[in-house]
Amino acid sequence: MTRQELKQRVYAAIDKRASEIIGLGEQIRQHPELGFKEVKTARLVEETFGRLGLAPKSGLALTGVRADVAGRAGSGPTFALLGELDGLVVTGHPVADPQTGAAHACGHNAQVAGLLGAAMGLLDSAAFDHLAGRVVFFAVPAEEYGDIEWRVAQARAGRLEFLGGKPELLRLGHFADVDMAMMIHTTSRPEDGKTGVPVSNNGCIVKTVRYLGRASHAGGAPHMGINALYAAQIGLAAINALRETFRDEDTIRVHPIITHGGSQVNVIPGEVRLETYVRGRTVDAILDANAKVDRAFRAGALALGAKVEIETLPGYMPMTCDATMARAYRDNAVGLVGEANFRQIGHRTGSTDMGDLSMVMPVLHPYMGGATGSGHGADFQIVDKDLAYLGIAKGLAAMVVDLLADGAAGGREVLSNARPPMTPEQYLAFQRGLARREVYEG
Ligand SMILES: [Zn+2]
Ligand SMILES: [Zn+2]
Repeated sequence: MTRQELKQRVYAAIDKRASEIIGLGEQIRQHPELGFKEVKTARLVEETFGRLGLAPKSGLALTGVRADVAGRAGSGPTFALLGELDGLVVTGHPVADPQTGAAHACGHNAQVAGLLGAAMGLLDSAAFDHLAGRVVFFAVPAEEYGDIEWRVAQARAGRLEFLGGKPELLRLGHFADVDMAMMIHTTSRPEDGKTGVPVSNNGCIVKTVRYLGRASHAGGAPHMGINALYAAQIGLAAINALRETFRDEDTIRVHPIITHGGSQVNVIPGEVRLETYVRGRTVDAILDANAKVDRAFRAGALALGAKVEIETLPGYMPMTCDATMARAYRDNAVGLVGEANFRQIGHRTGSTDMGDLSMVMPVLHPYMGGATGSGHGADFQIVDKDLAYLGIAKGLAAMVVDLLADGAAGGREVLSNARPPMTPEQYLAFQRGLARREVYEG
């Protein structure tokens, strides 16, 4: 059987399960959960894998679920298909969890439905009779890097080291036997077409910042206080003043939030907490901007005579899509959505922990349409369910055929062309080396 014939069989099997796959995606959309807390979603994935006759391992990096299937046509590389489990808090989102505020405003529900759909299509069509090597179906936690105070507390309690899902899975060795990986992320941007492949994505460093002043009576004795909120405002103003020094080609993004702005209004704020990312296209550019941001935060403390604690946390590495995999994906995409609807996307300024995987193995991170509104916005919604859910399932499954059929010749070609920049040990050492805590007395 040719690869094309095998793909058509797999597509037909996915279409046969269309309503089930769409139903799973909608069920997850309506029950969003935050990163490392995706308990219900993980259980749904585990149960679905079980129904397909797989033997999943669960609780990986708290909530990850992994199921392996070996090809029956010889040995070969191991190819992981990923789907991210988590939502994020977006003010005003109409389908948010009333307790946590979590919402699927990034379309990760479609990733998981697509992952399960790919497993169904490959298993139902008996594609594994024609595949060499091994496929790992992997639902992964916590791509959205938020809820940081809770995650830091988990790290202090020894339940996490890294605060993003894939870095933590890498640390724990759950990718140690994986040779290459891909996922397909939903997009709502018309310029991405129906599907497309980016060249690269920004990486980021994550920071938590705590200004400590001195509380005092806001009406009666402001001269006795040190206003931590004003110190923070000067820090933020200093960051804004630095923006013109960021080079366009470095695509720096610094976007702080205040997570605690004071205790109550008649008290001069004695403590103010902020969080920010420092994003950029390259590690060097991120480190350069990060040093400027630290300086800006110190300036706020200096001006008011406050103290500032700056905690720098490893974030996500810049991502590069593997060119050999991207070529195969493009051919499949043209077959699925037509040449006119495929886009070669340039550099994207968001960050993803697929970047971390891309440090140690070839990865592919295409985008699939079917959504409208703004990513991470209250108006983000999936409008073309066939494209958003079934498109991801077919896009993933077709790559399995390309890389693992014909004795895994495609997969071997990917591996022989790829030059991942780090070993897993080097990656872990690099990320750990970024962590630092500075206390500056202004
Ligand atoms: Zn997102
Ligand atoms: Zn996302």
